[in-house]
Order: sequence, then structure tokens, then C-alpha cells
Amino acid sequence: MTHRFDFLVLGSGIAGLSYALKVAECGTVGIITKKERAESNTNYAQGGVAAVMSQLDSFDLHVRDTLSAGVGLCHRDAVEILVREGPERLRELAQIGVEFTRNQAGELDLAREGGHSINRIVHSHDLTGREIERALVARVTSHPNIQVFENHIAIDLLTEHHAATKHVIDRTNIHCWGAYALNVHENAVHAFLANAVLLATGGLGHVYLHTTNPQIATGDGIAMAYRAGATIANMEFVQFHPTSLYDSGSPSFLISEAVRGYGGILKTQDGEEFMQKYDERKSLAPRDIVAYAIDTELKRRGEDFVLLDLRHLPADGIIEHFPHIYETCLNKFKLDITREPIPVVPAAHYACGGVLTDTNGRTSIHGLYASGEVSMTGVHGANRLASNSLLEGLVFSDRAARDARRFFREHPVAIPEIKDWDDSGTLNSEEWVLISHNRREIQQIMWDYVGIVRSNLRLERALRRMDLIRNEVETFYKKTKVTEGLIELRNLALCAMLIIKCAMKRRESRGLHVTTDYRERNDKEFLADTIVD
Ligand SMILES: Cc1cc2nc3c(=O)[nH]c(=O)nc-3n(C[C@H](O)[C@H](O)[C@H](O)COP(=O)(O)OP(=O)(O)OC[C@H]3O[C@@H](n4cnc5c(N)ncnc54)[C@H](O)[C@@H]3O)c2cc1C
Repeated sequence: MTHRFDFLVLGSGIAGLSYALKVAECGTVGIITKKERAESNTNYAQGGVAAVMSQLDSFDLHVRDTLSAGVGLCHRDAVEILVREGPERLRELAQIGVEFTRNQAGELDLAREGGHSINRIVHSHDLTGREIERALVARVTSHPNIQVFENHIAIDLLTEHHAATKHVIDRTNIHCWGAYALNVHENAVHAFLANAVLLATGGLGHVYLHTTNPQIATGDGIAMAYRAGATIANMEFVQFHPTSLYDSGSPSFLISEAVRGYGGILKTQDGEEFMQKYDERKSLAPRDIVAYAIDTELKRRGEDFVLLDLRHLPADGIIEHFPHIYETCLNKFKLDITREPIPVVPAAHYACGGVLTDTNGRTSIHGLYASGEVSMTGVHGANRLASNSLLEGLVFSDRAARDARRFFREHPVAIPEIKDWDDSGTLNSEEWVLISHNRREIQQIMWDYVGIVRSNLRLERALRRMDLIRNEVETFYKKTKVTEGLIELRNLALCAMLIIKCAMKRRESRGLHVTTDYRERNDKEFLADTIVD
């Protein structure tokens, strides 16, 4: 079956939904999403959205903090756009019904997080993402121009490769006309065609064994874009959140950075503070430094977790500021965080790299835009400043929407006839154990060899093993009917490979990429993005 829209959106997090509402003003929109519409990383964001919303703050200060976290690799033009356009985008969110937490005077309650030199985190208690997602989903669901396809997983982008008549394939001039997607409930693959396509499929946390990301985060968008010929950049910069609750399952339960911003102190299991050895900002240092410090302490002491101690803070304040964290810890994990220190470990959290875009969300493929965590706009550089990612999704989806509307008006696209999905000759496999086994193997290899601290030896070992797994998965994919698990496995293996390849290219330590073979930052040779195409 073929579906046709003016605009196609892959993903229903903050990037996809906010874009959809804007392009729907001038055309029909189809949104494909893997699970139920609200299931996304956005829905789990706790801390909030960074933006200059107070007289005490300034654009220059937010730009400076962002550039400082990015360790020389941020694209300054993109950062300026992010910071200057952010406040207006947040006001738009409030207008569509997002309830941000306010003080008694009715002003926004601005929180502080690691790496920010001032309180600037706009939040909705500690469930900011859920509140934003709720409001966006409500608007999208009632919009007459928007149709949402839940439980549809995009498999691949439609380009010249998929045209029914033969096209000459020029890798420097590829067009995107839509995507194939598997309707998971009907077990059927449909083609979705559109004049402009937005990739908003989020991150890739499940490439790693421990992650704060929900199950949807398997790097599908990056893998699809790479296979279609798009330029991918900076995959080595994976952010590990320093404080996920130890032993809380998959995904790991996140203890927001705002908890450290509020005064939580990191200690070893015997109660010793250690952050002063790593950074003068101690527990308020940016998350890469904190994750590195915890990893080092754990390896040095042979322990499984460190402690985040809030016991010196007033209990009612903790409960008021972090009701979700307090209740989840108490009810689900039998841990009263006002009385007991919280055992924490780092977990894969955020992908700074992804599909390279310009400042209007355009990728290197005509008609294909990317926004949110799947993209590499240049705002994060070698490390993302806390709470800049929801903001990035909002700001660059707005710009992509404006550009796509122009593109749609000015360049009517003639979409060629697309081949139907052909799975003749493939079988329903009984070998599902291969999928779960390979998935686990990828995650373990990435955790052990391509985690917080890397080395040449570990990367080479990871590359050899990943090469084998990828070949195995591709062979299995070609002869088997597609399933959600197989689509994800194929994408996880490819994303893992892209991370390893980028990490091998960067022979220095910078931001989130730390290697024992090149301990210093090397501006002479590596003050540039790592590009794979
Ligand atoms: C626990 C947690 C806390 C966080 N806290 C904060 C915070 O406080 N502040 C902040 O700025 N950032 C935070 N982040 C990061 C932030 O939430 C994400 O970077 C951001 O939400 C990404 O938005 P997105 O729209 O790009 O992707 P997502 O919100 O992840 O949405 C991706 C969408 O794509 C869909 N999808 C994926 N693959 C496919 C496919 N193949 N086919 C169809 N659909 C697909 C998914 O189902 C989902 O709907 C947090 C992240 C986590 C996990």
C-alpha cells in the first residue's frame, strides 16, 4: 500500500511533533512512529529546557556556556541561533498549553544544572518532557491536516535506489521521496511518499548495555540516512549521564542533573567526597567530567556504584522539587532519597553526533531534513550542555519547517513511481535467538570497549568484532522477513560501527571522547568535525 502526503515526519518526539504542527499550516502531514505516539526520549526528559528567560541572564552567557561545554567544536552560528531563538520557541510552547513550573509571583521557576553559569532551566517540576509531549500530542492529534501512524517502524528512506524506472545514481545528488515502513500489527510494509521528509527519530542509547533511553532509541534515523548516502558526523561523542540509579534495569532510571544543581553531593561508598580531585566546580561540573570521575573512581576502587547524597538538604524541598524521582525511588526501588544516599552509575544518554545538517535542518540529501537528537547541527560540539537538546529540537524544527514550506512552494517535486516492497524469497525465521544474542553482544562490546574511556587496542578489538556481527546481520536480513527486532538490530550494528569509526579517526581526547593513547586535546589536527559519508 502507498500513502501520500505533502510532508512526512519520522518520529513523534519534540522535534517531529513541533515540526508537524508548523508544516501542517500549508499541507498534509503524515507522522510515522514506532510505538504509541508519546513514546520517545522527549517523554522521559526530566530536568528541562535551557533558555534565556530572566533579566539576570544574557544571550552571551548562554552562548559562552554552550561553547565551553562543546570544547572548541560547536558551530558558533548554530549556537547563536539556538540561544537567540530559544526564548520565543518556549513562549510558543506555553501558548499551546505546556504548563511550566512558576514561583509564587507567577514567574518561571528557573533551575540550575551542571555547566550553566546561572539559573536558566525552564521546567515542569521533574517531568518536563512528559508535559511538553502531552501538549504537543494533544495538538497534533486534533489537527485536521495531520495523520499519525502508530506502531509503524520506518525501514529505509526512498531515494533513486527505489524508483521503479532505472535512475542514474549520483551520490552527490540524491533525492529523498519518503520511506518504507513496517506496520507492526499487520506485518505489512507500506510506502509513504512526500515532497519533504523530516527525520526526527531521536537517539541511539541502546547501542550500549546501560542506557537511560527508552526502547525506541536504536539509532534508526542515523542508520537509514547513512544507507541512503547522507553525511554523518561526530558519532564518537556519546554522552554518558553520570547519575543513573544503580541496578534499576533497562532503561536505567535517571537521577536528573538538577539534583546535583540543587545541592546533591557525590561521594564514594565510604562517604568520601571525590569531585574536587577532578574539577573545581565539584559536583556541579559538566556531565562528561562527572561521568569520567565516577568511572575512574569505580575502576580505581573496584566498586559498582558511587553515592549521590542529599541528606544534608531539607526533605520537603527535595520532595517538592523532585516529586517524580522521590516517588519512583521510594515506591519502585524502596529507597527514601531524603534519608538514604542514592547509589548511581553512568549510563549512555545522548548522541551529540548524527546526520549533518545546515542551520535550516537540511541534510546532504535533497528533500531530507533532520532535527533533534538524530541530527548534528553543530550546537553541541564535543559535549552537550545540559538541557540544550530539547531546545535544539524546538529551534531547528521551527527552522526546518519554515525551509520545508518554502521548498514545497517553490520547488514542486515530481515523485517517481516507487517499487513495491519486495520480500519474495525471504523466509520467516525461527532463529530469533540470533537477534537477541547479537543485540546483547553489540551492547556489551560497545560498553566494554567504546565507553567512557577508550584506547586504540579496545577500538581495534571492537571494530573486528562489529565487522563480523554486521556481516552476519546483513546476511540474515537479506533472507528473512523484516520484523521490528531485525530492523533495529541492523541499525544498532551500523550505528555501533559508525561510532567506532569516528572514534578511531579522532586521535586526541576532547569533550566526551577520552582515549588513553592520546590523552591531550590536539587543536592543530583535530579542531574539526569527524565526517563519515
Ligand atoms: C531520561 C532522559 C532525560 C532527559 N532529560 C533531558 C532534559 O532534561 N533536557 C533536555 O534538553 N534533554 C533531556 N534529554 C534528552 C532529550 O530528551 C532528547 O534529546 C530529546 O527528547 C530528543 O527529541 P527527539 O524529538 O529528537 O527524539 P525523541 O523524543 O526520542 O523521539 C524520537 C521518535 O522517533 C520514533 N522513532 C525512532 N525510530 C523510528 C523508526 N524507525 N520509525 C518510526 N519512528 C521511529 C520514536 O518512536 C519517537 O517517537 C533526556 C533524555 C532522557 C532519555
